[in-house]
Amino acid sequence: MCVFCKIVSGEIPSVKVYEDEGFLAFMDIGPVNKGHVLVIPKKHAETFVDLTEEEAAELFKRVNRIAKAVKLGLGADGLNIIINVGKASGQEVFHVHTHIIPRFENDGMKFGWRKLSYNDNEMEEYAERIRKAITPNDD
Ligand code: AMP
Repeated sequence: MCVFCKIVSGEIPSVKVYEDEGFLAFMDIGPVNKGHVLVIPKKHAETFVDLTEEEAAELFKRVNRIAKAVKLGLGADGLNIIINVGKASGQEVFHVHTHIIPRFENDGMKFGWRKLSYNDNEMEEYAERIRKAITPNDD
């Protein structure tokens, strides 16, 4: 059983902030900022792209609700809402989870963004590959 399934079953302790029949939100044990929360579906799925549209929509209803509470409850100036998908993105726990990270002016946290540029027709080519791969909702 994965670590987050063990949290769902109660085998591993967690500090919960929200729970309903299908979803759980709890405190991240290694917070980027204090108040960093994870929102998960109780049903095991490895990554976000393994969810159906409906499951993803239900997850995001909870993410929206908890995000508002983190911002209001902690008086955060902003939030980062992040989902890592796959090892290459930095995902370490292979049970879908959404990070909600409270952000404060001058909190000193910097994500390592970079800004590449496209050559010639490259942007359009990338866009076309994505467009061709979009499938209808198959829920
Ligand atoms: P990710 O890199 O997106 O897979 O993030 C996994 C997150 O899970 C990290 O931020 C960890 O600090 C967090 N984490 C791992 N184990 C636990 C645990 N037992 N309780 C709470 N958070 C955890």
